[in-house]
Amino acid sequence: KSLALPGVQHLQPYQGGMPVEELERELGISDVIKLASNENPLGLSTKAREAVDRVLKDGARYPDGNGYYLKNALAKQLGVCANQLTLGNGSNDVLELLARGFLGQQHNAVVSEHAFVVYQLVITAQNAHVVIVPAKQWGHDLEAMAEAVDSQTRLLFIANPNNPTGTWAPLSSVERLLQSVPPHVLVVLDEAYFEYVDEAGYGSAIELIKQYPNLVVTRTFSKAYGLAALRVGYAVSHPDVADILNRLRQPFNVNGLALAAAQAVLADEEYLQNSIEMNRQGYQQLTSGFEKLGLDYIPSAGNFVAVQVPGDASELYRSLLQKGIIVRPIALYGMPNHLRVSIGLPEENERFLNTLSQLLSDGG
Ligand code: PMP
Repeated sequence: KSLALPGVQHLQPYQGGMPVEELERELGISDVIKLASNENPLGLSTKAREAVDRVLKDGARYPDGNGYYLKNALAKQLGVCANQLTLGNGSNDVLELLARGFLGQQHNAVVSEHAFVVYQLVITAQNAHVVIVPAKQWGHDLEAMAEAVDSQTRLLFIANPNNPTGTWAPLSSVERLLQSVPPHVLVVLDEAYFEYVDEAGYGSAIELIKQYPNLVVTRTFSKAYGLAALRVGYAVSHPDVADILNRLRQPFNVNGLALAAAQAVLADEEYLQNSIEMNRQGYQQLTSGFEKLGLDYIPSAGNFVAVQVPGDASELYRSLLQKGIIVRPIALYGMPNHLRVSIGLPEENERFLNTLSQLLSDGG
């Protein structure tokens, strides 16, 4: 009999995309491309690399456990107080802190169908109950999510934009949800892909925290800021919520290299703008390629696109692997007919599209 606690018994470990090196070794080639983990194709910013090098010179020291400088820089940029911030080892860490801080086994948390899988992981690990609300045209049905809240609900997760669908809700509908949800429910607005949202009037959800102290906004340096390997993300919340999260976090949950790199890249507006522009062009490139191939895709506000493929998507995934291209099958998200493709460099997108076209014509 398993010794695992009830919530842990049926959990599966989170599976990231296959590492490039692993596939290169397997295939005996050296030009594998990975469009599988929504990483930034520009690579680490030069300023971040320099900051990391400076920290390595003093690498025997513990980092600043409170992230004083990064928090102050973020507070200034976001127009909040430093005591509203919680730093994490990636935003996944912050999502877990939220579950640990607010969910017991008698509680539940509301998520959407097809939503980012880590929510279910962190909720279930607390032995709390997951309430899954059916999606509407692949996106979150915020009205139905608000209606799913009951007296035992403590958290409601909104991925905006969502991974793997790329769907997103305008801030006005998020605000409507906040108006209808009771104050004992923390609404977690996961904005991991916020910087890519190219929509006039999306505005800043952070402004809404003044009016709705039960709103928590999470963001990350892993995507548009290109620090996925270094692991740093954060939550912006009411100071009372941040206080609880900060009591629970590990003493040095964000390492010194990550703190310094995040501070450097936060000041590197050029890198951010390049990331956004490269993503905008890559999105056009991929989606016009899909249209030429007659493939349906879900319009995405993130740095990835979920594309519907004929036949078995996991088989196509394996055929792409054989050609040295790693993408992401998303059957785990209840989407067995889609592949999620991260937007890469122009030449990577082109190689992917050409290979896809070839495999599809071979197959049919
Ligand atoms: N939220 C969403 C919606 C994501 O897609 C991801 C990355 N896969 C994360 C949070 C977590 O990213 P990180 O821990 O690297 O900040």
